[in-house]
Amino acid sequence: MDFRSDTVTQPTEAMRIAMANAIVGDDVYGDDPTINALEKWAAEHHGFEAAIFTSSGTQANLLGLMSHCGRGDEYLCGQQAHNYKFEGGGAAVLGSIQPQPIQNEPDGTLCFKKLEQAIKPDDIHFAQTKLLSLENTINGKVLPLDYLRQAREFTQRHHLQLHLDGARVYNAAVALNVDIKEIACHFDSMTVCLSKGLSAPVGSLLLGTKELITKARRIRKMLGGGMRQAGILAAAGKIALTEQVNRLQTDHDNAKRLANGLSQIDGFDINVEHVQTNIVFVKLAPHIDSTALQAQLKQQGILIGSGNPLRFVLHNDVEANDVDILIEQVQSFVRG
Ligand SMILES: *Cc1c(COP(=O)(O)O)cnc(C)c1O
Repeated sequence: MDFRSDTVTQPTEAMRIAMANAIVGDDVYGDDPTINALEKWAAEHHGFEAAIFTSSGTQANLLGLMSHCGRGDEYLCGQQAHNYKFEGGGAAVLGSIQPQPIQNEPDGTLCFKKLEQAIKPDDIHFAQTKLLSLENTINGKVLPLDYLRQAREFTQRHHLQLHLDGARVYNAAVALNVDIKEIACHFDSMTVCLSKGLSAPVGSLLLGTKELITKARRIRKMLGGGMRQAGILAAAGKIALTEQVNRLQTDHDNAKRLANGLSQIDGFDINVEHVQTNIVFVKLAPHIDSTALQAQLKQQGILIGSGNPLRFVLHNDVEANDVDILIEQVQSFVRG
């Protein structure tokens, strides 16, 4: 049992069969029918003109940022944004793009007043602000649809492009019970991770206009992300999007189950109301030794993360019964 992340998911049986039978070609030549079909289908399915398959979510975000922004440009993002904090500073290192992080509000949104103040005037002293990048879900929280509408208006008013890091955007769509297009329609570009809760072994997508994706394709090659018979991966990616979306509700239900269970345990502080999707954050009291907890659970064959708050992630390879076992084991640890 592995509660560290939804990246640990194994490909499903259907994926393995599709991968084994995928018709492939050299995708750098544009010759891989399975990649071409996935990109065409994904563009239509999400309401964009074009799509590109990438090796990772990090690469998809980087392609998005580098396609929107040039050297000396700036993007606005959250202080907690994955594409600011957890991607090795790639936009700055590889794109010479300056990030302008803004403190996230407790619900994960960015305040438009603060964003407005951060936009640089047209003056030779400043980098040129080109893009606002949002993340949905962010730390398991869903951005409200009305906020997305406001973000679209805000960026139009300020002549900015709008990007979504949608690594877990399907968790947001399932939690809101809306079609993915109702989220995607507000953005100029969006990324989707196929390899997290959707269980594909490898791969992400960047979606956008034809022009943006053409630029991204050139940059992907430059970054070493041009892959050859990658249809083997795209075959699994298609199943991720067609067969694995609806079951995300099970992960959300299991997250609630875990949150409810752990919140009964002394020293485990959880705001159960805040658990909206597949991620549970637990604030540990000082007397809980999280390293010792991690070590004891590991002996029982249960993997968890470390740190405080402690993060638990639910996914295809853990079931409700596993959640109950985890809760019992934590109880027995606390009892000593
Ligand atoms: C995981 C993640 C990414 C990056 O995806 P990788 O495939 O791990 O590179 C980007 N953004 C968010 C919000 C993520 O959770």
